Amino acid sequence: MKKQIAILPGDGIGKEIISSAITVLNEIANLFDHDFSYEYARIGGEAIDIDGTPLPEETIKVCKESDAILLGAVGGPKWDNNPPDLRPEKGLLGIRKSLQLFANLRPVIAFDSLSDASTLKPSVLNGTDLMIVRELTGGIYFGQPSERRKAKSGEEIAVDTLYYSREEIERIVRKGFELAALRRRKLTSVDKANVLESSRMWREIVDEIAHEYPGVEVSHMLVDNAAMQLIRNPKQFDVIVTENMFGDILSDEAAMLTGSLGMLSSASLSANGPGLYEPAHGSAPDIAGQNKANPLATLLSVAMMLKYSFGMNNEGSLIEKSIECVLEEGYRTADLADHSELILSTDEMTNKVIETITILHKSTKMSAN
Ligand code: NAD
Repeated sequence: MKKQIAILPGDGIGKEIISSAITVLNEIANLFDHDFSYEYARIGGEAIDIDGTPLPEETIKVCKESDAILLGAVGGPKWDNNPPDLRPEKGLLGIRKSLQLFANLRPVIAFDSLSDASTLKPSVLNGTDLMIVRELTGGIYFGQPSERRKAKSGEEIAVDTLYYSREEIERIVRKGFELAALRRRKLTSVDKANVLESSRMWREIVDEIAHEYPGVEVSHMLVDNAAMQLIRNPKQFDVIVTENMFGDILSDEAAMLTGSLGMLSSASLSANGPGLYEPAHGSAPDIAGQNKANPLATLLSVAMMLKYSFGMNNEGSLIEKSIECVLEEGYRTADLADHSELILSTDEMTNKVIETITILHKSTKMSAN
């Protein structure tokens, strides 16, 4: 299969983890006879320095012309004091908006071999495999008015508006059902229907769409309860679908279930354009350029890209399985390690994953023959 991938390395460790991803993608292309081509483009701090804007038009064009987008991370102390329009993060928000990436998918998998890296007990964590589906382009982060003003009394007030159209809710809820149907067929819709009108409409729409997916078991949960249940018993969840702000908070809470930011992948999808794949962590300026970054969140994001954008399920699963094997063998990057383990650099971890991909692929082929 022939695919063009837009590559946006960004800043800090972005370049190192993206280089790791390309090496793995090339190995997958080689083993499965695919033809991946890469179009590099600038975003974030690097784009501010060279193009005078965090999101050049050329970058948007390259992304729109590609089959999928792989992003490293943006930001760093060099740009921290820039005016709002010249901040690297503006590039991220801009690309999400330009490409209408309304669905943010964050898988949370607690690898048994990493259970010591989490603050929760292994008995609570082991077996956790859930997906948070967060609405990304609507809700209180985008509703207008969002401003400070004077009340009639003369007092200063601040207003934010929680706005959702039926269409915005329908498309994200449908995405939640579609994903649940492909997984363990359990969907938890999270809202605040005891207080918010937008949540009551959300609930109604979930119940309507549920008729289209009779094989998926649906339940509703209030967001405060969901926050508690994620820590109490994360194994009860398969797919969680929720609005923008609730998803923002719950997905960071759920990140703690994996033990390290370096393990969290993500996908942001639109209705029919290219999807964007990136690790959940930032540009880690403190370790940039030192060959220390954990590339696994990026490699797990590559696995999502292969599955969700290209329909290459075997290829994506092979990357996931290889990462699991490498961790089970005790290999760690510095962020995951305690004292006893084998600490690898970014390049060494990448090579270990590739070695394992090759071995597992060979053994699958042999058992098929
Ligand atoms: P960060 O995620 O970059 O780093 C937090 C801590 O985790 C650091 O100690 C870092 O070394 C470590 N870390 C993160 N990813 C790692 C990896 N793959 N391997 C090993 N260790 C890793 O968050 P921060 O320090 O708050 O932010 C740094 C910069 O990144 C800021 O400019 C921020 O705005 C930006 N940022 C960008 C994104 C993005 O591009 N999506 C997300 C969050 C933060």
